[in-house]
Amino acid sequence: MAAITAAEHGAGVLVLEHMDSAGKKLLLTGKGRCNYTNTDVCPKHYHSLESYLAGSDAGSAPQEFMEPVLSEFDHAACLDYFRTLGIEPEIRHYRFDHTGYVYPREGGASKVLDALMLRAELLGVRFLYGVRISTAVRTDDGSFALSWHRSVHGHTAEEQESCDALIIAAGSNAYPDTGSDSSVYSLLKELGLSADHTGFLPALCALYSKDPLLSEWKGQRAEGTVSLLIDGRETSRKERGEIQFNEHSISGIPVMQLSGLASSCLKNGRSISLSLQIPDADDPGRLLMDHVFPIHRTAGFERAQCCTGGIRLHTVEPSCMESTHVRDVYFCGEILDVDGDCGGYNLHFAWASGRLAGRCAADPVRDRF
Ligand SMILES: Cc1cc2nc3c(=O)[nH]c(=O)nc-3n(C[C@H](O)[C@H](O)[C@H](O)COP(=O)(O)OP(=O)(O)OC[C@H]3O[C@@H](n4cnc5c(N)ncnc54)[C@H](O)[C@@H]3O)c2cc1C
Repeated sequence: MAAITAAEHGAGVLVLEHMDSAGKKLLLTGKGRCNYTNTDVCPKHYHSLESYLAGSDAGSAPQEFMEPVLSEFDHAACLDYFRTLGIEPEIRHYRFDHTGYVYPREGGASKVLDALMLRAELLGVRFLYGVRISTAVRTDDGSFALSWHRSVHGHTAEEQESCDALIIAAGSNAYPDTGSDSSVYSLLKELGLSADHTGFLPALCALYSKDPLLSEWKGQRAEGTVSLLIDGRETSRKERGEIQFNEHSISGIPVMQLSGLASSCLKNGRSISLSLQIPDADDPGRLLMDHVFPIHRTAGFERAQCCTGGIRLHTVEPSCMESTHVRDVYFCGEILDVDGDCGGYNLHFAWASGRLAGRCAADPVRDRF
């Protein structure tokens, strides 16, 4: 989206991708159906690790950061834009959630990826795959000199190019097999930006417990209420929905929504537990379960739908996504310390921040902050 937007604003764009194709994670979204936005996109659905670590149970990403980004490309603008790419929306409603999850009416994630790739191709965006970026240095004329290795016809070639602006859209460390594997740290280091990154922790994932009650419930799904306790203290975080019991873990949307907070607490050495109440469907006044499960870890990065943590938000100018420390370096998407709830919010943030970064990176005469 950043590449497309920069090209729409007249820039020549080169995408350096280290996998053999683009959009591998996009193809997995919404179990292949691609929940690409939500009718309720607004700052309250976004969290940040720095906010969690500062002691906030909600972990709300700062309003002053989220508002300008989301207003660049709100829910309506998102639907309109994807319509221009041939993607008609279908809005689905689920129990326990008043919001509308938006999917393509047909074709799912592969149709969304194809539409974006076609748009990029029509705009002349160039893609190179299998790229291992080795250096990125600022030259005397203010541009960046980039060099990388790439396998061409069976042998490794070293190539280079210079550019006026860099947009870093390398994702997080969630599902590293998709290419989102933190390998971008070395580039950040070279640009002098490693201290601007918090490191990543898994979010939107299952939570693990050694409680023996799990073996009785494993394989079952039940509707109920989940709340997170920190050091035995009740928090304001309470979620309802379908809970899934596995052999060693508890998952389902209400648990996943609490996992970013759980990750940050475990990182801080706090003890956490999940309090579960499951009413009897035949007799709602009676509880089938009212139990507190001690949690000792979250799922790993390979099973987390996103990460909490990333580029610290106070080091990025929200009106343009440019680093406040290195001019002409822009960030967008999950590499930023923003993690959204389940429901299409993470892709929406990637689109919105990508549009902002692409537009501003393409504008050579933009007023500087
Ligand atoms: C299983 C699953 C299901 C999901 N479902 C949904 C959903 O339905 N709705 C929703 O809103 N969100 C969903 N998400 C989250 C969403 O997919 C991500 O938040 C979103 O893809 C982030 O976009 P991004 O462009 O920032 O990063 P990514 O999509 O991860 O893309 C980053 C790109 O950068 C490349 N890259 C990384 N490092 C380098 C490097 N060093 N050099 C060159 N290239 C590099 C990667 O190969 C990749 O192509 C899901 C995630 C998962 C894992």
